[in-house]
Amino acid sequence: MEFSLIDRIAARVTARADVLLGIGDDAALLQPRAGMQLAASCDVLNVGVHFAADDPPSAIGHKAAAVNLSDLAAMGAEPAWCLLGLSLPEADIDWLDGFLEGFLGLAAQHGMALVGGDTTCGPCSIAVTVQGWVPAGRALRRDGARVGDELWVSGTLGDAAAGLARAGAGGAAAFLRARLQRPTPRIALGQRLHGLAHAAIDVSDGLLADLGHVLARSGVGATIELDVLPASEALRESVRDPAQRRIFQCSGGDDYELLFSASPERSPALNALADELGLPLTRIGRIESVPGCRIVDAAGQPVQMLQRGWQHFAGAV
Ligand code: ADP
Ligand code: MG
Repeated sequence: MEFSLIDRIAARVTARADVLLGIGDDAALLQPRAGMQLAASCDVLNVGVHFAADDPPSAIGHKAAAVNLSDLAAMGAEPAWCLLGLSLPEADIDWLDGFLEGFLGLAAQHGMALVGGDTTCGPCSIAVTVQGWVPAGRALRRDGARVGDELWVSGTLGDAAAGLARAGAGGAAAFLRARLQRPTPRIALGQRLHGLAHAAIDVSDGLLADLGHVLARSGVGATIELDVLPASEALRESVRDPAQRRIFQCSGGDDYELLFSASPERSPALNALADELGLPLTRIGRIESVPGCRIVDAAGQPVQMLQRGWQHFAGAV
């Protein structure tokens, strides 16, 4: 049974010239590239935590690929290969086909080949390992933010959190749910930030939580302007209470946008890049020497945010 599932998976994978031996042996054989470093990352998705048992399987597959691709995007890496660890309660062929449509569909869009994995019987859980190329020494790390840098974020914030709360109605509600269930990894943006950004992270746990990681690793602080945080039309329409909207934007996870820091003289190039990619890039604050993160309103007055983000084992903090 396990083998017929693996055959089903193997039949659908995209080929790549640098996959010398793919699914079917004890390990895959992959061809390294001169002058490049390999970025590697793994994310596990569990039923009841990261997705619901009755979510559409293709959405689960899409999200499993997207959250991992997003980590590569945040390093400025070009996706290459992935491995898929699947734990399934039963050999449900229809579920697997739907899952593969979402997973392999998004992987193929980014030229990423599935080269191996493991298939076992157990509570539904999906572990994905991804690997991608970065030019040697040029990865976008969390520890590169410098005092005087401006902070930027791609796209809009808070949509996925509003989708999880089932906010809104009609088209706006559908948009927010799609942002939650089918996030878009910012792969093209990540690769274009080499030479422009000093540090980057993807917003998976919430803006303030993820910014906190950059600040801690870089040994700096920041001020964020609450009123300039980008919000989608759907979020504005569905979450009318500005205080609630801000909580979603600052603390809601799962948006998978890129948060990055860049020196102020890069701002014309970043605005041009936003136009070229058709993806909004918004300046939301600046890096400072004073440790910690300060949040201010349009008048520069400090604002207290109670909920900072999501932590596994602790919940919302
Ligand atoms: P082994 O027992 O040597 O680990 P398996 O029977 O688990 O081998 O796997 C056989 C082949 O199928 C291996 O090449 C493995 O990488 C691949 N494989 C197993 N499960 C998956 C999966 N879910 N996705 C992709 N490849 C898989
Ligand atoms: Mg195995």
